[in-house]
Amino acid sequence: MKYVFGPVSSKRLGQSLGVDLLPPKSCTWNCVYCQLGRTKRFETERREFFPRQEILDEIVEALQNNTGIDWITFVGSGETTLYKGLGWLIHEVKQRTSIPVAVITNGSLLHLPEVRQELLEADAVLPSLNAGSEELYLRIDRPAPGFGFLQHIEGLRQFRQEYTGKLWVEVMLIAGLNDSDEALEDLARVLADIRPDTVHLVVPTRPAPESFVGLPEEERVLRAVFILSKAAHVVHPVKGTMNLKGASDLLEAVTSIAVRHPVQERELETALLDCFPGDHEAVRQAMDAMLASGRFDKVTQGSELYWIMKAV
Ligand code: SF4
Repeated sequence: MKYVFGPVSSKRLGQSLGVDLLPPKSCTWNCVYCQLGRTKRFETERREFFPRQEILDEIVEALQNNTGIDWITFVGSGETTLYKGLGWLIHEVKQRTSIPVAVITNGSLLHLPEVRQELLEADAVLPSLNAGSEELYLRIDRPAPGFGFLQHIEGLRQFRQEYTGKLWVEVMLIAGLNDSDEALEDLARVLADIRPDTVHLVVPTRPAPESFVGLPEEERVLRAVFILSKAAHVVHPVKGTMNLKGASDLLEAVTSIAVRHPVQERELETALLDCFPGDHEAVRQAMDAMLASGRFDKVTQGSELYWIMKAV
């Protein structure tokens, strides 16, 4: 499938069927932690990158072939709301299924009334907010020119006023950048103004394009939960696991995930063990065969091994 991938499992969204609306990488930001690598050229204009009907047809087909999906999630190779026609897709999907729809976004286009309007039918919107000050916003998110901090905050605030679904703000906590008490107090102040339903606190576990991006100490994570809880309900989701059961072609299934984010080797092994219960030899052979395809490179982040797509 070209646009649909997974389902992948996550603490936040359970079994989530991903829909990627963008060519890699199309984004208004260049985050220091981005799992897609650096943004080589900013994309700031909304467009219908691919025909909407083609995407809808794939979603419908995936829904016929998969059971037990908890969420249909628009997410992917950049900033989701750059796709013009997102509102149409959300509406059409909701006509065809009762499975809830989520949109993962950096929130940078929420200052545009038409973007806010297009998201109104989604059941959950998960925008990013990594800084409570302009200085840190510029250092972490490294936005395209014209995408200022106050515009970002105002977009989020405005959206909250118009949107009745679940607003789950994601905060990426990075060691030495936004994990100080001062940075967290700033964030808490901004969050209190936005009034999200929940704050999802996440940490950079996947390989980042900048070597200075590191995992915060556990004490800092607990401190972040404490400080941000003054403004909103905070959850610190554990990492999800992949679900490869039901995949007709394991190599293609893993490729469709790896083109969107690095795959932790340990997680891959666990997912394959679900496909071949108790048969570690079959898992090893499947992984060897995937590596032999020449599609993947292995990289280390902290103490973890990840599979990424080989550079072409
Ligand atoms: S907003 Fe998302 S896709 Fe864009 S640079 Fe940041 S992490 Fe990457």
